[in-house]
Amino acid sequence: MEGLLLVVSGPSATGKGTVCRQLVNETDVELSVSATTREPRPGEVDGVDYFFMTEEEFVKTIEEDGFIEHVENFGRRYGTPLSYVKSKISSGRDIILEIDVQGAAIIKEKFPECILIFLLPPSIEELGARIRRRGTETKEKIAQRLSKAQQEIECIVNYDYYIVNNEVEQAVEDMKSIIKAEHHKLCKNVSDQIINSFKEEKTDALS
Ligand code: 5GP
Repeated sequence: MEGLLLVVSGPSATGKGTVCRQLVNETDVELSVSATTREPRPGEVDGVDYFFMTEEEFVKTIEEDGFIEHVENFGRRYGTPLSYVKSKISSGRDIILEIDVQGAAIIKEKFPECILIFLLPPSIEELGARIRRRGTETKEKIAQRLSKAQQEIECIVNYDYYIVNNEVEQAVEDMKSIIKAEHHKLCKNVSDQIINSFKEEKTDALS
């Protein structure tokens, strides 16, 4: 059976990275690593947090159709590597993508079975405080990120689930509950497989 393709979005500094990393540490879910042309932040590692690329490398990957989707945010490019995602899902692994609302919409078009999860901050004030605590952004950039956050939150109508990131532990537990429910969800393929496996078992039981 194919693995789940989970897509987590939410305004920058909502805590997507922290929640997703903790989920990956505590479960078999694997995190997809995006490519970006932005500079690494202190502590970020190439190949772990992002594949940090030059503009030239990024453009070459686009030309080779190497991304499922790619966008430009704050003058920097971000992209989701196609081969990584496809190979993980078809080998039965659940994979989580942490991307913005534009990217998530494209992924839903290309992989309609994907599960869209929106991570919300407790409030816009708290989001501003979290961005300031990072200490990496100018006042102007913080204002840009907050107004972008409000636009992004309006896209929640296109999502399947929402989680409020008040406490990381609780947000991770909520994520696990969603994954568990999705593993038990019946869709045409799954119900056909179950029906067929019971037919085979009945035949075996009679012989
Ligand atoms: P940051 O620079 O704070 O790591 O990320 C800025 C924004 O880019 C975040 O909203 C993040 O989710 C988004 N992002 C990261 N990787 C990708 C990607 O592969 N595709 C898209 N569309 N957005 C991404």
